[in-house]
Amino acid sequence: MGHSSKFAKYVVLHEPRIAIRDSPTIQGGLVGACSNGTVVEVLEVCRKWVRAQTPHGKTGWMLTDGAEVQLGQLMAPYNETLTVDPPKVLKVGRTGLQLRITSASWHLWSETLCTVAVQLRATSGGVRDAWAGPKAAEVRCPVEPGETLAARAKVVWSDGSTAGWSAWTEPIRVPERPGAPAEGVATDICGMRRGRCTKCACGGYEMQFGHPNTVEGLYCAECACLNTDHEKKDPPKSPPQPQAAARRPPSHAPQQTAGGFNRTRDQFLEAFQAWERSGEWQRLYQDTDSGAPCHLFCISDIHTDHKANHHRVDTMPSPPPNSTLIVAGDVCTALPRLEGILSSLVKRYRHVFYVPGNHELWTPGTTSDSISKFLEILELCDRIGVHTRPGLIHPKLAVVPLFSWYKGSFIPSRTWYHDQESTFDGACRWPPSIGNPDDPRNSNADGIADFFLELNERRLKGGPESRAGLQVVTFSHFLPRLELYGGWNALQKVMGCWELDQQLRSIGASFHVFGHSHIFVDRTIEGVRYLQHCLGYPGSGWQPNEPKELCCID
Ligand SMILES: [Zn+2]
Ligand SMILES: [Zn+2]
Ligand SMILES: [Zn+2]
Repeated sequence: MGHSSKFAKYVVLHEPRIAIRDSPTIQGGLVGACSNGTVVEVLEVCRKWVRAQTPHGKTGWMLTDGAEVQLGQLMAPYNETLTVDPPKVLKVGRTGLQLRITSASWHLWSETLCTVAVQLRATSGGVRDAWAGPKAAEVRCPVEPGETLAARAKVVWSDGSTAGWSAWTEPIRVPERPGAPAEGVATDICGMRRGRCTKCACGGYEMQFGHPNTVEGLYCAECACLNTDHEKKDPPKSPPQPQAAARRPPSHAPQQTAGGFNRTRDQFLEAFQAWERSGEWQRLYQDTDSGAPCHLFCISDIHTDHKANHHRVDTMPSPPPNSTLIVAGDVCTALPRLEGILSSLVKRYRHVFYVPGNHELWTPGTTSDSISKFLEILELCDRIGVHTRPGLIHPKLAVVPLFSWYKGSFIPSRTWYHDQESTFDGACRWPPSIGNPDDPRNSNADGIADFFLELNERRLKGGPESRAGLQVVTFSHFLPRLELYGGWNALQKVMGCWELDQQLRSIGASFHVFGHSHIFVDRTIEGVRYLQHCLGYPGSGWQPNEPKELCCID
Protein backbone atom coordinates (compact mmCIF):
# COMPACT_ATOMS: atom_id res chain seq x y z
CA MET A 1 0.00 0.00 0.00
CA GLY A 2 2.53 2.63 1.07
CA HIS A 3 5.91 3.19 -0.50
CA SER A 4 9.08 4.75 0.76
CA SER A 5 9.56 8.48 0.28
CA LYS A 6 11.89 10.11 -2.19
CA PHE A 7 12.70 12.45 0.68
CA ALA A 8 14.15 11.07 3.86
CA LYS A 9 12.86 14.02 5.86
CA TYR A 10 9.85 16.33 5.94
CA VAL A 11 9.46 19.61 7.79
CA VAL A 12 6.31 20.97 9.42
CA LEU A 13 5.37 24.31 7.81
CA HIS A 14 1.97 24.82 9.42
CA GLU A 15 1.59 26.98 12.51
CA PRO A 16 1.49 26.29 15.32
CA ARG A 17 1.39 22.49 14.97
CA ILE A 18 -0.12 19.59 13.05
CA ALA A 19 -1.84 16.44 14.25
CA ILE A 20 -0.25 12.98 14.35
CA ARG A 21 -2.82 10.24 13.62
CA ASP A 22 -2.89 6.47 13.71
CA SER A 23 -4.04 6.14 10.06
CA PRO A 24 -3.65 8.25 6.84
CA THR A 25 -7.09 9.90 7.05
CA ILE A 26 -8.49 12.94 8.86
CA GLN A 27 -10.77 10.59 10.74
CA GLY A 28 -7.72 8.72 12.07
CA GLY A 29 -7.23 8.64 15.83
CA LEU A 30 -5.11 11.42 17.34
CA VAL A 31 -1.81 10.14 18.75
CA GLY A 32 -0.02 13.46 19.25
CA ALA A 33 1.07 16.74 17.65
CA CYS A 34 4.15 18.02 15.91
CA SER A 35 5.04 21.72 16.03
CA ASN A 36 6.05 24.08 13.25
CA GLY A 37 9.62 23.70 12.07
CA THR A 38 10.04 20.17 13.34
CA VAL A 39 11.99 17.95 10.98
CA VAL A 40 10.69 14.38 10.95
CA GLU A 41 12.10 11.11 9.56
CA VAL A 42 9.76 9.77 6.89
CA LEU A 43 9.06 6.04 7.04
CA GLU A 44 6.29 5.75 4.48
CA VAL A 45 4.27 7.92 2.08
CA CYS A 46 0.61 7.43 1.17
CA ARG A 47 -0.91 10.01 -1.20
CA LYS A 48 -0.94 13.27 0.82
CA TRP A 49 0.12 11.56 4.03
CA VAL A 50 3.48 10.59 5.44
CA ARG A 51 4.17 8.17 8.26
CA ALA A 52 7.06 9.66 10.15
CA GLN A 53 8.97 9.68 13.39
CA THR A 54 9.46 12.89 15.36
CA PRO A 55 12.78 13.76 17.05
CA HIS A 56 11.05 12.69 20.31
CA GLY A 57 10.47 9.18 18.95
CA LYS A 58 6.72 9.51 18.37
CA THR A 59 5.53 7.77 15.18
CA GLY A 60 2.30 8.35 13.23
CA TRP A 61 0.59 9.71 10.09
CA MET A 62 0.79 13.41 9.23
CA LEU A 63 -1.09 15.28 6.49
CA THR A 64 1.24 17.18 4.10
CA ASP A 65 -1.34 19.06 1.98
CA GLY A 66 -4.16 20.78 3.87
CA ALA A 67 -6.31 21.64 0.84
CA GLU A 68 -9.13 19.25 1.78
CA VAL A 69 -9.36 20.90 5.23
CA GLN A 70 -9.09 24.45 3.80
CA LEU A 71 -5.47 24.86 4.84
CA GLY A 72 -2.38 25.37 2.71
CA GLN A 73 0.70 23.24 2.57
CA LEU A 74 1.25 21.70 6.00
CA MET A 75 4.54 19.89 5.44
CA ALA A 76 7.24 19.85 2.82
CA PRO A 77 10.11 17.60 1.85
CA TYR A 78 13.25 18.62 3.62
CA ASN A 79 16.79 17.54 3.40
CA GLU A 80 20.17 19.05 3.86
CA THR A 81 20.83 19.27 0.15
CA LEU A 82 18.30 22.11 -0.23
CA THR A 83 20.46 24.90 -1.56
CA VAL A 84 20.48 28.68 -1.50
CA ASP A 85 21.45 30.60 -4.64
CA PRO A 86 24.08 33.33 -4.55
CA PRO A 87 22.23 36.49 -3.46
CA LYS A 88 20.86 38.77 -6.18
CA VAL A 89 22.24 42.30 -6.02
CA LEU A 90 19.31 44.74 -5.99
CA LYS A 91 21.11 47.99 -5.24
CA VAL A 92 24.70 49.04 -4.63
CA GLY A 93 25.04 52.23 -2.63
CA ARG A 94 28.20 53.80 -1.27
CA THR A 95 27.42 52.54 2.24
CA GLY A 96 24.94 49.71 1.76
CA LEU A 97 24.29 46.71 -0.38
CA GLN A 98 20.72 45.54 -0.89
CA LEU A 99 20.49 41.81 -1.60
CA ARG A 100 17.69 39.41 -2.40
CA ILE A 101 18.07 35.93 -0.92
CA THR A 102 16.74 33.37 -3.37
CA SER A 103 16.39 29.63 -3.49
CA ALA A 104 14.31 27.23 -5.51
CA SER A 105 13.25 25.80 -2.12
CA TRP A 106 12.48 29.21 -0.63
CA HIS A 107 8.87 28.26 0.15
CA LEU A 108 10.12 25.31 2.18
CA TRP A 109 12.03 27.41 4.66
CA SER A 110 9.94 28.16 7.72
CA GLU A 111 9.13 31.84 8.24
CA THR A 112 9.46 31.54 11.99
CA LEU A 113 12.14 28.92 12.46
CA CYS A 114 14.67 29.84 9.81
CA THR A 115 17.24 32.57 9.96
CA VAL A 116 19.21 34.06 7.11
CA ALA A 117 22.89 34.95 7.29
CA VAL A 118 24.99 36.87 4.76
CA GLN A 119 28.75 37.11 4.54
CA LEU A 120 30.85 39.49 2.46
CA ARG A 121 34.32 38.82 1.15
CA ALA A 122 36.46 41.79 0.11
CA THR A 123 38.89 41.28 -2.76
CA SER A 124 41.48 42.68 -0.39
CA GLY A 125 40.91 39.52 1.67
CA GLY A 126 38.89 38.73 4.76
CA VAL A 127 35.37 37.34 5.11
CA ARG A 128 32.98 39.15 7.43
CA ASP A 129 29.48 38.52 8.76
CA ALA A 130 27.31 41.24 7.25
CA TRP A 131 23.76 40.27 8.18
CA ALA A 132 21.91 37.76 10.36
CA GLY A 133 18.23 37.69 11.27
CA PRO A 134 14.86 36.04 10.75
CA LYS A 135 14.13 34.65 7.30
CA ALA A 136 13.87 37.66 5.01
CA ALA A 137 13.82 37.86 1.24
CA GLU A 138 15.70 41.15 1.18
CA VAL A 139 18.53 42.26 3.42
CA ARG A 140 20.77 45.32 3.56
CA CYS A 141 24.45 44.93 4.41
CA PRO A 142 26.74 47.81 5.38
CA VAL A 143 29.72 48.34 3.04
CA GLU A 144 32.58 50.79 2.64
CA PRO A 145 32.83 53.13 -0.38
CA GLY A 146 35.21 51.87 -3.03
CA GLU A 147 35.24 48.22 -1.92
CA THR A 148 34.98 45.33 -4.32
CA LEU A 149 33.08 42.47 -2.71
CA ALA A 150 31.43 39.14 -3.20
CA ALA A 151 28.43 38.04 -1.12
CA ARG A 152 26.98 34.67 -0.08
CA ALA A 153 23.98 33.60 1.95
CA LYS A 154 22.72 30.67 3.99
CA VAL A 155 19.53 29.64 5.72
CA VAL A 156 19.71 27.99 9.14
CA TRP A 157 16.94 26.12 10.97
CA SER A 158 16.41 26.68 14.65
CA ASP A 159 17.84 23.20 15.29
CA GLY A 160 21.08 24.32 13.64
CA SER A 161 20.60 22.32 10.46
CA THR A 162 21.45 24.16 7.28
CA ALA A 163 21.90 23.72 3.57
CA GLY A 164 25.21 25.51 3.93
CA TRP A 165 26.52 28.60 2.20
CA SER A 166 25.54 29.52 -1.31
CA ALA A 167 28.22 30.16 -3.91
CA TRP A 168 29.78 33.65 -3.93
CA THR A 169 28.30 36.30 -6.19
CA GLU A 170 30.25 37.90 -9.01
CA PRO A 171 32.43 40.79 -7.74
CA ILE A 172 30.33 43.79 -6.68
CA ARG A 173 31.91 47.22 -7.06
CA VAL A 174 30.85 49.70 -4.37
CA PRO A 175 31.02 53.31 -5.68
CA GLU A 176 33.65 55.67 -4.38
CA ARG A 177 32.81 58.67 -2.26
CA PRO A 178 32.07 61.67 -4.48
CA GLY A 179 35.23 63.55 -5.27
CA ALA A 180 37.35 60.43 -5.03
CA PRO A 181 36.79 58.76 -8.40
CA ALA A 182 37.97 55.26 -9.08
CA GLU A 183 41.29 54.98 -10.84
CA GLY A 184 40.96 56.06 -14.45
CA VAL A 185 37.28 57.04 -14.37
CA ALA A 186 36.26 60.25 -16.10
CA THR A 187 33.14 62.38 -16.31
CA ASP A 188 32.58 63.64 -19.81
CA ILE A 189 30.92 66.78 -21.11
CA CYS A 190 27.44 65.21 -20.92
CA GLY A 191 28.01 64.48 -17.24
CA MET A 192 28.38 60.81 -18.11
CA ARG A 193 30.78 58.64 -16.22
CA ARG A 194 33.15 56.67 -18.36
CA GLY A 195 34.95 53.77 -16.80
CA ARG A 196 37.53 51.21 -17.46
CA CYS A 197 36.62 48.83 -20.26
CA THR A 198 34.52 46.12 -18.67
CA LYS A 199 34.89 43.66 -21.49
CA CYS A 200 38.60 43.08 -21.62
CA ALA A 201 41.72 43.94 -19.71
CA CYS A 202 42.76 46.56 -22.26
CA GLY A 203 42.08 49.52 -19.98
CA GLY A 204 39.96 51.13 -22.69
CA TYR A 205 36.78 53.12 -22.28
CA GLU A 206 33.14 52.78 -23.00
CA MET A 207 30.02 54.76 -22.26
CA GLN A 208 28.27 53.94 -19.05
CA PHE A 209 25.69 51.31 -19.86
CA GLY A 210 22.07 52.32 -19.71
CA HIS A 211 22.60 56.07 -19.90
CA PRO A 212 20.02 57.70 -22.20
CA ASN A 213 22.89 58.94 -24.34
CA THR A 214 24.47 55.51 -24.57
CA VAL A 215 25.71 55.13 -28.08
CA GLU A 216 26.20 51.81 -29.75
CA GLY A 217 29.53 51.69 -31.43
CA LEU A 218 32.05 53.31 -29.15
CA TYR A 219 35.59 52.23 -29.80
CA CYS A 220 37.85 50.82 -27.14
CA ALA A 221 40.58 53.35 -26.39
CA GLU A 222 43.39 50.83 -26.48
CA CYS A 223 42.58 48.03 -28.88
CA ALA A 224 40.34 50.28 -31.03
CA CYS A 225 37.71 47.60 -31.50
CA LEU A 226 34.01 48.39 -31.26
CA ASN A 227 32.65 47.85 -27.79
CA THR A 228 29.79 45.82 -29.26
CA ASP A 229 32.10 43.11 -30.55
CA HIS A 230 34.73 43.70 -27.98
CA GLU A 231 34.51 40.47 -26.02
CA LYS A 232 35.26 38.43 -29.12
CA LYS A 233 38.66 40.03 -29.51
CA ASP A 234 41.81 39.88 -27.47
CA PRO A 235 43.50 43.18 -26.73
CA PRO A 236 46.92 43.63 -28.31
CA LYS A 237 49.76 42.26 -26.21
CA SER A 238 51.70 45.51 -26.40
CA PRO A 239 50.68 49.01 -27.50
CA PRO A 240 50.92 49.49 -31.28
CA GLN A 241 54.32 50.85 -32.27
CA PRO A 242 54.24 54.04 -34.33
CA GLN A 243 55.15 53.19 -37.89
CA ALA A 244 58.25 54.66 -39.44
CA ALA A 245 59.52 55.61 -36.01
CA ALA A 246 63.01 54.91 -37.28
CA ARG A 247 62.70 57.77 -39.79
CA ARG A 248 62.13 60.28 -37.01
CA PRO A 249 65.00 62.77 -36.87
CA PRO A 250 66.63 61.96 -33.53
CA SER A 251 67.53 65.58 -32.80
CA HIS A 252 63.85 66.53 -32.61
CA ALA A 253 62.67 63.56 -30.60
CA PRO A 254 61.68 64.36 -27.02
CA GLN A 255 63.71 62.63 -24.36
CA GLN A 256 61.43 59.62 -23.95
CA THR A 257 63.21 58.18 -20.98
CA ALA A 258 61.78 55.27 -19.05
CA GLY A 259 61.04 57.68 -16.22
CA GLY A 260 58.85 59.94 -18.40
CA PHE A 261 56.24 60.31 -15.68
CA ASN A 262 58.80 61.62 -13.23
CA ARG A 263 60.45 64.15 -15.53
CA THR A 264 60.74 67.64 -14.10
CA ARG A 265 58.68 70.47 -15.56
CA ASP A 266 61.84 71.86 -17.18
CA GLN A 267 62.56 68.50 -18.78
CA PHE A 268 59.06 68.43 -20.27
CA LEU A 269 59.50 72.02 -21.52
CA GLU A 270 62.86 71.12 -23.06
CA ALA A 271 61.32 68.11 -24.77
CA PHE A 272 58.60 70.35 -26.23
CA GLN A 273 61.07 73.02 -27.34
CA ALA A 274 63.32 70.40 -28.93
CA TRP A 275 60.31 69.26 -30.93
CA GLU A 276 59.12 72.79 -31.77
CA ARG A 277 62.60 74.03 -32.81
CA SER A 278 61.35 77.64 -32.94
CA GLY A 279 58.17 79.65 -32.62
CA GLU A 280 58.47 80.88 -36.18
CA TRP A 281 55.30 80.93 -38.27
CA GLN A 282 55.92 78.68 -41.26
CA ARG A 283 55.21 79.93 -44.75
CA LEU A 284 52.88 77.31 -46.22
CA TYR A 285 51.90 79.03 -49.47
CA GLN A 286 53.91 79.30 -52.69
CA ASP A 287 54.47 82.42 -54.76
CA THR A 288 53.36 80.34 -57.71
CA ASP A 289 49.94 79.80 -56.05
CA SER A 290 47.38 81.45 -58.23
CA GLY A 291 43.84 81.12 -59.32
CA ALA A 292 42.04 79.12 -56.62
CA PRO A 293 40.91 81.24 -53.67
CA CYS A 294 42.17 80.21 -50.21
CA HIS A 295 39.34 78.75 -48.08
CA LEU A 296 39.54 78.31 -44.31
CA PHE A 297 37.19 75.85 -42.56
CA CYS A 298 36.84 74.81 -38.95
CA ILE A 299 35.37 71.97 -36.91
CA SER A 300 35.84 70.62 -33.38
CA ASP A 301 34.91 67.69 -31.15
CA ILE A 302 34.53 65.17 -33.94
CA HIS A 303 34.75 62.38 -31.30
CA THR A 304 35.37 59.58 -33.75
CA ASP A 305 35.42 57.04 -30.92
CA HIS A 306 31.74 56.97 -31.85
CA LYS A 307 31.08 54.92 -34.94
CA ALA A 308 28.35 57.33 -36.10
CA ASN A 309 30.77 60.29 -35.92
CA HIS A 310 33.50 58.32 -37.64
CA HIS A 311 31.07 57.63 -40.48
CA ARG A 312 29.98 61.27 -40.58
CA VAL A 313 33.59 62.44 -40.88
CA ASP A 314 34.31 59.86 -43.59
CA THR A 315 31.33 60.99 -45.64
CA MET A 316 31.77 64.76 -45.34
CA PRO A 317 31.55 66.47 -48.74
CA SER A 318 34.84 67.24 -50.46
CA PRO A 319 36.06 70.80 -49.92
CA PRO A 320 36.96 73.14 -52.80
CA PRO A 321 40.62 73.11 -53.88
CA ASN A 322 43.11 75.07 -51.75
CA SER A 323 41.11 74.54 -48.54
CA THR A 324 42.54 74.51 -45.04
CA LEU A 325 40.83 72.82 -42.09
CA ILE A 326 41.18 73.70 -38.40
CA VAL A 327 40.42 70.75 -36.10
CA ALA A 328 40.04 72.17 -32.58
CA GLY A 329 40.59 69.01 -30.53
CA ASP A 330 38.67 65.96 -29.24
CA VAL A 331 39.21 63.71 -32.24
CA CYS A 332 39.45 60.45 -30.24
CA THR A 333 41.48 58.80 -27.49
CA ALA A 334 43.48 55.99 -29.12
CA LEU A 335 46.57 57.05 -31.08
CA PRO A 336 46.17 54.57 -33.98
CA ARG A 337 42.68 55.94 -34.60
CA LEU A 338 43.90 59.54 -34.27
CA GLU A 339 46.54 58.86 -36.89
CA GLY A 340 43.97 57.27 -39.21
CA ILE A 341 41.42 60.09 -38.92
CA LEU A 342 43.92 62.94 -39.28
CA SER A 343 45.59 61.17 -42.23
CA SER A 344 42.24 60.92 -44.01
CA LEU A 345 41.69 64.68 -43.51
CA VAL A 346 45.20 65.46 -44.77
CA LYS A 347 44.29 63.71 -48.03
CA ARG A 348 41.23 65.93 -48.51
CA TYR A 349 42.55 69.33 -47.42
CA ARG A 350 45.57 71.25 -48.55
CA HIS A 351 46.43 71.94 -44.91
CA VAL A 352 45.10 70.54 -41.65
CA PHE A 353 45.77 72.41 -38.39
CA TYR A 354 45.10 70.68 -35.11
CA VAL A 355 45.51 70.86 -31.32
CA PRO A 356 44.80 67.90 -29.01
CA GLY A 357 41.69 68.12 -26.82
CA ASN A 358 41.21 66.57 -23.42
CA HIS A 359 40.01 63.24 -24.85
CA GLU A 360 43.29 62.73 -26.68
CA LEU A 361 45.16 63.11 -23.40
CA TRP A 362 43.27 60.35 -21.58
CA THR A 363 45.71 57.67 -20.50
CA PRO A 364 43.57 54.97 -18.93
CA GLY A 365 46.54 52.70 -18.36
CA THR A 366 49.20 53.57 -15.85
CA THR A 367 52.27 53.14 -18.03
CA SER A 368 52.03 56.51 -19.76
CA ASP A 369 51.12 60.04 -18.73
CA SER A 370 49.16 62.80 -20.41
CA ILE A 371 52.15 65.07 -21.11
CA SER A 372 54.17 62.27 -22.70
CA LYS A 373 51.11 61.36 -24.77
CA PHE A 374 50.74 65.03 -25.79
CA LEU A 375 54.37 65.10 -26.99
CA GLU A 376 53.83 61.82 -28.81
CA ILE A 377 50.80 63.32 -30.60
CA LEU A 378 52.86 66.31 -31.79
CA GLU A 379 55.36 63.90 -33.35
CA LEU A 380 52.58 61.84 -34.86
CA CYS A 381 51.24 65.03 -36.48
CA ASP A 382 54.66 65.87 -37.93
CA ARG A 383 54.90 62.38 -39.37
CA ILE A 384 51.57 62.57 -41.22
CA GLY A 385 51.76 66.25 -42.21
CA VAL A 386 49.30 67.81 -39.74
CA HIS A 387 50.22 71.33 -38.59
CA THR A 388 50.47 71.95 -34.86
CA ARG A 389 52.82 74.93 -35.37
CA PRO A 390 51.66 78.36 -36.64
CA GLY A 391 51.60 78.80 -40.40
CA LEU A 392 50.83 81.36 -43.09
CA ILE A 393 48.46 79.73 -45.56
CA HIS A 394 48.25 82.92 -47.63
CA PRO A 395 50.25 86.18 -47.57
CA LYS A 396 47.25 87.70 -45.78
CA LEU A 397 46.16 84.79 -43.56
CA ALA A 398 47.91 83.12 -40.60
CA VAL A 399 46.64 80.22 -38.48
CA VAL A 400 48.05 79.89 -34.94
CA PRO A 401 47.34 76.79 -32.83
CA LEU A 402 47.26 77.53 -29.08
CA PHE A 403 47.62 74.80 -26.47
CA SER A 404 45.51 75.09 -23.35
CA TRP A 405 43.74 73.45 -20.44
CA TYR A 406 41.12 74.65 -17.96
CA LYS A 407 41.49 76.43 -14.64
CA GLY A 408 39.13 76.81 -11.70
CA SER A 409 39.65 80.59 -11.89
CA PHE A 410 37.58 80.60 -15.10
CA ILE A 411 34.60 81.17 -12.75
CA PRO A 412 36.26 83.03 -9.86
CA SER A 413 32.95 83.71 -8.09
CA ARG A 414 32.69 80.03 -7.15
CA THR A 415 35.56 78.51 -5.20
CA TRP A 416 34.25 74.97 -4.75
CA TYR A 417 34.02 72.21 -7.35
CA HIS A 418 30.92 70.30 -8.39
CA ASP A 419 31.23 66.48 -8.37
CA GLN A 420 31.31 66.43 -12.16
CA GLU A 421 34.09 68.99 -12.22
CA SER A 422 36.21 67.22 -9.64
CA THR A 423 36.07 63.92 -11.56
CA PHE A 424 36.25 65.49 -15.03
CA ASP A 425 39.06 64.02 -17.13
CA GLY A 426 39.86 61.58 -14.34
CA ALA A 427 41.27 59.39 -17.10
CA CYS A 428 44.21 61.74 -17.58
CA ARG A 429 47.37 61.03 -15.63
CA TRP A 430 49.55 64.03 -14.83
CA PRO A 431 53.22 63.88 -13.90
CA PRO A 432 53.80 65.20 -10.37
CA SER A 433 55.88 68.09 -11.74
CA ILE A 434 52.87 69.37 -13.76
CA GLY A 435 49.71 68.25 -11.94
CA ASN A 436 48.77 67.45 -8.38
CA PRO A 437 51.63 65.34 -6.94
CA ASP A 438 49.24 63.62 -4.52
CA ASP A 439 46.67 62.72 -7.17
CA PRO A 440 47.88 62.20 -10.74
CA ARG A 441 44.27 61.63 -11.94
CA ASN A 442 43.17 65.09 -10.79
CA SER A 443 42.92 67.27 -13.89
CA ASN A 444 42.07 70.46 -12.00
CA ALA A 445 45.59 71.46 -10.91
CA ASP A 446 46.45 74.98 -12.14
CA GLY A 447 49.90 73.71 -13.12
CA ILE A 448 48.38 71.86 -16.09
CA ALA A 449 46.92 74.96 -17.76
CA ASP A 450 50.02 76.98 -16.84
CA PHE A 451 52.22 74.40 -18.56
CA PHE A 452 50.22 74.41 -21.80
CA LEU A 453 49.96 78.22 -21.82
CA GLU A 454 53.73 78.45 -21.45
CA LEU A 455 54.17 76.25 -24.54
CA ASN A 456 52.53 79.06 -26.54
CA GLU A 457 55.07 81.72 -25.51
CA ARG A 458 57.52 81.23 -28.38
CA ARG A 459 54.89 81.07 -31.10
CA LEU A 460 53.20 84.21 -29.79
CA LYS A 461 56.45 86.04 -30.51
CA GLY A 462 57.27 84.15 -33.70
CA GLY A 463 55.05 85.93 -36.23
CA PRO A 464 56.24 88.07 -39.14
CA GLU A 465 57.47 91.54 -38.19
CA SER A 466 55.17 93.29 -40.58
CA ARG A 467 51.56 92.44 -39.78
CA ALA A 468 50.05 95.01 -42.16
CA GLY A 469 47.04 93.45 -43.85
CA LEU A 470 47.63 90.09 -42.15
CA GLN A 471 44.58 88.38 -40.69
CA VAL A 472 45.43 86.15 -37.70
CA VAL A 473 43.18 83.19 -36.84
CA THR A 474 43.94 81.48 -33.53
CA PHE A 475 42.39 78.29 -32.21
CA SER A 476 42.39 76.19 -29.05
CA HIS A 477 40.37 73.30 -27.70
CA PHE A 478 39.31 75.09 -24.51
CA LEU A 479 37.33 78.31 -24.06
CA PRO A 480 39.07 81.69 -23.67
CA ARG A 481 36.09 83.49 -22.08
CA LEU A 482 33.34 82.46 -19.68
CA GLU A 483 30.57 84.24 -21.61
CA LEU A 484 31.20 81.85 -24.52
CA TYR A 485 29.89 79.03 -22.34
CA GLY A 486 26.13 78.65 -22.12
CA GLY A 487 26.00 75.13 -20.69
CA TRP A 488 25.63 73.58 -17.24
CA ASN A 489 26.92 75.64 -14.32
CA ALA A 490 28.25 72.39 -12.86
CA LEU A 491 30.94 72.26 -15.56
CA GLN A 492 32.10 75.90 -15.62
CA LYS A 493 35.37 75.14 -13.87
CA VAL A 494 36.45 72.66 -16.53
CA MET A 495 35.75 74.81 -19.59
CA GLY A 496 38.72 77.08 -20.13
CA CYS A 497 41.02 79.80 -18.88
CA TRP A 498 41.09 83.57 -19.28
CA GLU A 499 44.85 83.63 -19.95
CA LEU A 500 44.07 82.16 -23.36
CA ASP A 501 42.12 85.30 -24.26
CA GLN A 502 45.07 87.50 -23.29
CA GLN A 503 47.32 85.36 -25.48
CA LEU A 504 45.15 85.48 -28.60
CA ARG A 505 44.60 89.23 -28.22
CA SER A 506 48.33 89.79 -27.76
CA ILE A 507 48.88 88.71 -31.37
CA GLY A 508 45.89 90.59 -32.74
CA ALA A 509 43.68 87.61 -33.60
CA SER A 510 40.53 88.58 -35.45
CA PHE A 511 39.05 85.06 -35.29
CA HIS A 512 39.33 82.50 -32.53
CA VAL A 513 38.07 78.94 -33.04
CA PHE A 514 37.53 76.66 -30.04
CA GLY A 515 35.67 73.48 -29.03
CA HIS A 516 35.11 71.43 -25.88
CA SER A 517 31.72 72.72 -24.70
CA HIS A 518 29.83 71.10 -27.62
CA ILE A 519 27.78 74.26 -28.01
CA PHE A 520 27.69 76.23 -31.27
CA VAL A 521 29.04 79.75 -30.87
CA ASP A 522 29.48 82.59 -33.36
CA ARG A 523 29.89 85.75 -31.37
CA THR A 524 32.01 88.88 -31.64
CA ILE A 525 33.32 90.31 -28.37
CA GLU A 526 35.58 93.37 -28.24
CA GLY A 527 36.64 92.98 -31.85
CA VAL A 528 37.34 89.23 -31.87
CA ARG A 529 34.95 86.81 -33.56
CA TYR A 530 34.71 83.58 -31.51
CA LEU A 531 33.50 80.43 -33.21
CA GLN A 532 32.65 76.92 -32.21
CA HIS A 533 31.40 74.50 -34.86
CA CYS A 534 31.33 71.09 -33.23
CA LEU A 535 30.19 67.60 -34.07
CA GLY A 536 29.70 66.61 -30.42
CA TYR A 537 28.24 63.25 -29.40
CA PRO A 538 25.78 61.41 -31.59
CA GLY A 539 22.33 61.50 -30.05
CA SER A 540 22.90 64.60 -27.94
CA GLY A 541 21.77 67.25 -30.41
CA TRP A 542 21.92 68.45 -33.98
CA GLN A 543 25.12 67.56 -35.80
CA PRO A 544 26.46 69.42 -38.84
CA ASN A 545 27.32 67.52 -42.02
CA GLU A 546 30.43 69.49 -42.79
CA PRO A 547 32.96 71.97 -41.38
CA LYS A 548 32.08 75.67 -41.31
CA GLU A 549 33.80 78.11 -43.62
CA LEU A 550 35.47 80.93 -41.69
CA CYS A 551 36.78 83.01 -44.52
CA CYS A 552 37.91 82.93 -48.11
CA ILE A 553 40.71 85.04 -49.56
CA ASP A 554 41.27 85.53 -53.29
ZN1 LIG B 1 38.91 47.14 -24.36
ZN1 LIG C 1 34.43 67.22 -27.03
ZN1 LIG D 1 36.92 68.53 -24.85
